[in-house]
Amino acid sequence: MGKDPTTDIADKLAHLRLSFRGKAEGELDQLSEVASKVTGGNQKQRLLREDVMSAYQLLHRLAGSAGTFGYTMLGAEARRLEQRLKPLTEQDASNGDTKLVVSAEERQKTVDTLVQAGRLRALLDEPVVPPIPSASNSEWLKGNHGLPVSDIHVVLCGLSEGSQVFLEYALSNYGFSVSRQEVTALSFSQAHLMSMVVTSEDRLSDVSSALDSLFGGDESLKPPLICVGRSDDFRARYVLADKGADALFHEPIDITMLAEGIERLVSEQSRTVSGKILILDDDEDLAEHYRAVLEAAGFIVRAISDPETVLSELSEFFPDIMLLDVLMGEYSGPTVAKLIRFDPEWVSLPIIYLSSEQDKQVQLDAMAKGADEFLTKPMSDSHLVRAAQIRCYRARQLNELLIRDSLTGLLKHSFIKQEVEKEHARCKRLSHCSVVAMLDLDHFKKVNDQHGHRTGDVVIKALASLLKRRLRSTDLIGRYGGEEFVVVLPECTTQEGQSVMNQICHAFSDQLFTNNGVSLSVTLSVGIASLSSFGSGSDALNAADQALYERKEAGRNGVTIFHQG
Ligand code: GH3
Ligand code: MG
Ligand code: MG
Repeated sequence: MGKDPTTDIADKLAHLRLSFRGKAEGELDQLSEVASKVTGGNQKQRLLREDVMSAYQLLHRLAGSAGTFGYTMLGAEARRLEQRLKPLTEQDASNGDTKLVVSAEERQKTVDTLVQAGRLRALLDEPVVPPIPSASNSEWLKGNHGLPVSDIHVVLCGLSEGSQVFLEYALSNYGFSVSRQEVTALSFSQAHLMSMVVTSEDRLSDVSSALDSLFGGDESLKPPLICVGRSDDFRARYVLADKGADALFHEPIDITMLAEGIERLVSEQSRTVSGKILILDDDEDLAEHYRAVLEAAGFIVRAISDPETVLSELSEFFPDIMLLDVLMGEYSGPTVAKLIRFDPEWVSLPIIYLSSEQDKQVQLDAMAKGADEFLTKPMSDSHLVRAAQIRCYRARQLNELLIRDSLTGLLKHSFIKQEVEKEHARCKRLSHCSVVAMLDLDHFKKVNDQHGHRTGDVVIKALASLLKRRLRSTDLIGRYGGEEFVVVLPECTTQEGQSVMNQICHAFSDQLFTNNGVSLSVTLSVGIASLSSFGSGSDALNAADQALYERKEAGRNGVTIFHQG
């Protein structure tokens, strides 16, 4: 079996720590040399600008990195000494004078600082505090917050017997895995199985505090809590939100709405931890450290240290966010950020600076050049993960707004068409078979006419949600038009496609909707075609549409495969 991922990352981080130590030794030797050069001279000898500058730069680098690798004392001391040298580095150098203009008192202070800098090497022997892992945060090291939507475990807890029975039946029918729990029996052994807890207004406080104690108050680990109740005014809702409810559903419960709420809350929680991150830091060990930590938290990460490769990496990797170092040898992070923004494609890419810079004005100037946030080195690993989670989540939300239909959350017309073309190209390149399906609700005009547009909307959403639950995560689903949908099933034969779509037709026609006490069911028709049999994606789409038309002619409610001629 594979290695425990926790041990794996601990090994990786220990290795990086060693590598940092090796480099730091060299840098500290350089510092000692500068120090002895300056202090070795007589009292009247002038301070050379280049000596102070090089000491300052060495200290700046150590201040920004030592803490990350566990050398907390060294980091803090380097920061203190760096701050003391800073005013001298800002002295006007335009007259070309290689010597600094300082009073005797300033000179003495600088020499003292350099003497202390020369002694920093001893701090490399301070016991290293491992930055991670500790038992309390080892959970995120496993990088396993994200639950696949098809694997949602709903726990019913503290509900009336009637609601309990109804919800258990209705939510299981929807495909969720459902279990009942007594409030007092909520235990840690089941904690990993909970993607969602549903409770009543009356027991909300008890359940909420039981979850708090179970998850040690860590909001990111707690499953979302749905409350079923009667409260309707602002005040009562406020109390529920304050007690820990993430959503409120009124009785009698609209099961389609509840199922959707569950999916949304679970996917929001898992989405906060996923995403693609590009890191650019010229310090390779630091970049690797960030990468190890973020990968352990579930991100897909690429770390680079050469600024000149940033554009090609961006267009190859397509990150959700970027972490950017501020000082990279001859290159400046803010200027690199500006250059990235030249390309319209990256105008809205969130860029976060990683910097040892603590001066607020410098931070603001850098932000004006096109970054969104400043993280000051050294930051704790959990801070880095949290900041990346929040940024990735927002970036993805914005992107979702752009490409997804608001009613169903499915891909909009032009985006699903693009996906059809992309999959067609993959079929040609990799010589595999994929299927495209066109779906259309039957007699939908009648549903609207007899039950109203709102009920019609509920039906459309229910089909979208069924497709999302039943199809593989690699399948692509789009809302092509009003009540028409397009599905792409990669690496799938037409027979397999027909069988999957048939199951969906059956499951959908079994679903009961209600409108003012009147119940109704709706069927759908599907036409499918093999992508690889056509010269382009849109030709295959037309063929699927033609098969759909044949299905409608042949009596609807079922699946027809396109046949030539
Ligand atoms: P067929 O079985 O032949 O497909 O019949 P149909 O009535 O479903 O076909 P038609 O295309 O004539 O009607 C589609 C209807 O879908 C008309 C339109 O008002 C309705 N519709 C389109 N978009 C929406 C929407 O977003 N919400 C609702 N409620 N109705 C919609
Ligand atoms: Mg229709
Ligand atoms: Mg139609």
